[in-house]
Amino acid sequence: MDVEDHTDVVMHDGGILASTELDNADTSPDLSIKTEQNTEARASLAPALRGQGAKREMLDPREDLPRPPKFKHLPYVTAQTGLVYDVRMRFHVETYPAESDIHPEDPRRIHVIFEAFVNAGLAWRKGAEGPPDQYMGRIDARKVTKDEVCLVHTERHWDWIQSLASKSDEELEDELQHPGQYKQMDSVYLSPNTPFCAALSAGGAIEACRALLLGKVKNVFAVIRPPGHHAEREDVKGFCFYDNVSIAAKVCQQEFEHCRKVLVLDWDVHHGNGIQQAHYNDPNVLYISLHVHNDGTFYPELSYRDNRLPYGDRLHCGEGAGLGYNVNIPWRRHGMGDADYIYAFQQIVMPIASEFNPDLVIIAAGFDAAEGDMLGGCFVTPAGYAHMTHMLMSLAQGRVAVCLEGGYNLDSIARSACAVGRTLMGEPPDRLQGLEPVNSAVDDIKKVVRQQSKFWPCLHPKDVSARGPPQGERMHDVVRKWQATTLWDEYEMSPLFVHRESLSKSFDGQVLATSNYMDARPLLVILHDPPEMLASPDPRTGRVELHNTWLTDIVKTYVDWAAKEGFAVIDVNLPKHVTAIDDDQEHEEIDRVEHRTKEATELLSYLWDNYIELNEATHIFLMGTNTGHGAIVNFIKANEARAQRLSKVISFVEDVPLQSCKSATSDTLDGWYYGHSLVFVSDEHAFWSSDFARKIRKRFGRIFKSSAETMSEMLAAHKESVTDALLDETEDWQLTRPASPDEQQQLETELGQKSLPPLGNSALSALGHSNGNLASPGARKARFGMREESDVAEVIATIRRGQKQHWATAALDSVLSGNAAHN
Ligand SMILES: [Zn+2]
Repeated sequence: MDVEDHTDVVMHDGGILASTELDNADTSPDLSIKTEQNTEARASLAPALRGQGAKREMLDPREDLPRPPKFKHLPYVTAQTGLVYDVRMRFHVETYPAESDIHPEDPRRIHVIFEAFVNAGLAWRKGAEGPPDQYMGRIDARKVTKDEVCLVHTERHWDWIQSLASKSDEELEDELQHPGQYKQMDSVYLSPNTPFCAALSAGGAIEACRALLLGKVKNVFAVIRPPGHHAEREDVKGFCFYDNVSIAAKVCQQEFEHCRKVLVLDWDVHHGNGIQQAHYNDPNVLYISLHVHNDGTFYPELSYRDNRLPYGDRLHCGEGAGLGYNVNIPWRRHGMGDADYIYAFQQIVMPIASEFNPDLVIIAAGFDAAEGDMLGGCFVTPAGYAHMTHMLMSLAQGRVAVCLEGGYNLDSIARSACAVGRTLMGEPPDRLQGLEPVNSAVDDIKKVVRQQSKFWPCLHPKDVSARGPPQGERMHDVVRKWQATTLWDEYEMSPLFVHRESLSKSFDGQVLATSNYMDARPLLVILHDPPEMLASPDPRTGRVELHNTWLTDIVKTYVDWAAKEGFAVIDVNLPKHVTAIDDDQEHEEIDRVEHRTKEATELLSYLWDNYIELNEATHIFLMGTNTGHGAIVNFIKANEARAQRLSKVISFVEDVPLQSCKSATSDTLDGWYYGHSLVFVSDEHAFWSSDFARKIRKRFGRIFKSSAETMSEMLAAHKESVTDALLDETEDWQLTRPASPDEQQQLETELGQKSLPPLGNSALSALGHSNGNLASPGARKARFGMREESDVAEVIATIRRGQKQHWATAALDSVLSGNAAHN
């Protein structure tokens, strides 16, 4: 299909009739309503448009009107699929089109879809094989009436759009720049034909739905433009003038008794702010929108009229009687594909839609999430659209009206619309490939489930915070308290004072240190995430039972190791969320990584200034997990000279950005960092699929690709590498260092027994911990009655090295010979 041949797209009424399309197509815009079958009210709503628009007499009479179903017993399946397409909707064009910069809302959009339908044998045009009733049945579009528009928009809105018809090009340009009370029109262009095309587009949507509810067709595709879902009550916006879909829904609800409940499913890549607004307090229109949101930074970010907050987030659920009937499924990033959309359908759309049980389904069908669309940046394939359509066809006895919204890659929209058209006509959807949703999509979807579970009985698990304020403590505060108690019991670690501007439970005991942190011995500073909790929540209530919850605190094993080796330890807990002093007990998201990293960097600088800089540590090691990693690298970059005191920095990176240590002022910092770092990066980390991974630069440090995925697994898997590295660095000090409490306990036990158990690491660990304080050499000597400190050091070194039992026993014997037994 070569759409570029059709140069008529920016012509006004007269010229278009010479186009290739009209020469050989039957696209007669006969304006009488073929679906007419009802009341006088109907007739008054739909005046014919004699004499306006294209030269109708030049067009062939219609031959492919919708036919009734072939079989009475199978009324739905044997009826035709309807098609609304009117070439005159292409008259809405830019006043001053620039050839180099074609506006994305290109009039050719509807043309390429119609062409694709014809070429695929879905739509009839003169010359096509077989009788017209094998194809989609054509339904005429007509102009929407003022009364119909005012079901959704204000009279002012209608009047303003009508006024455009009589304006000159200059006046239209002016209108765009200075539209009365608002500052500037948001993403629209205007032409004298705009009122006509917009009216035809909305009228087309109405007639599509009416044909469906009148039983003329089994389902219907309205190939209409300009689109509608961004148009608000009194604002044109985002290429949209009238909210086509909402107007059609309201008209049908008024006209048909058997059309009480309408589902509007909006898969346009943008949020349909207009549709949301039109039905926000209406329990009879369920609006479900899947769209890219990017935390509110993707169009439509906010209303230019009253600067409302971004309204496409999942927390906008409707209000009043309509509460729960607005379902936003916002993607936090671009790049979603079939797997993500299908997953959303399976987890949210279909359960809710089935429970709602609509009488009519309208798809606000933008194809800008299609692969190839430049605005959307997503990857939904034609088969993906077909499957979504197919699922929706199970609702409302198959009464599905597809109304075109956005979609700006001509090739993509043609292929996608074709796949939807085939499905409507009864063709089974194509196979899908690779249906594993990406992690962020799973997160996004599960959060919507949690939110909507408040309103929809079918959704589980229920949001526990919806049960009202639980009046409890947040577990991360409880766990930190427990950690502080344990570390005090075992190593007498106590909190270091940290000056704060604000207060929070989460800061209590955030920094714990062994009492010897100022001494001349190695100091290990660990900046870590809170321990991991693994739980299998109750599948229905979401409640977590304590006996089915496991706490994994691998960081603690590093503290254990360091204390045993006689290191001083400063343990810094970096909460993922800081509990507010007046905690509202609601569900809280994890604070943003950037924010947490900044806070952690400030804390590390504070600790350095107040507790690390002035001490006598023989070696300083910094170890960080996730945000701790970012804090350490930031600290080094900001304090190049002071960082030279560091013996080694160790990072574990699971799900935060990998930081490079490149200085703007020094050429040697990255080299230094490479020589002094160990950086373990999770197997699942995005770094490995980035360009950097091909040739890793020094500035990322000494990187190791971990075979583990989670932080706990990584910390466990690489503990030996880390401890070996720390022992290497401190080898000289190890030989002369004072005994650690464990080793003193070991000695004490050894000396109190006649026959000695085997020595070595296993024996040491089997003996357990002790708080016996023998730290001062004098006290220890007196207690064991020893002559020389060096004797004791030798014994300890022997035990520490785990040398042969008989040698160690002999050495102990020799040292202790002549001394009174301890007991
Ligand atoms: Zn869109």
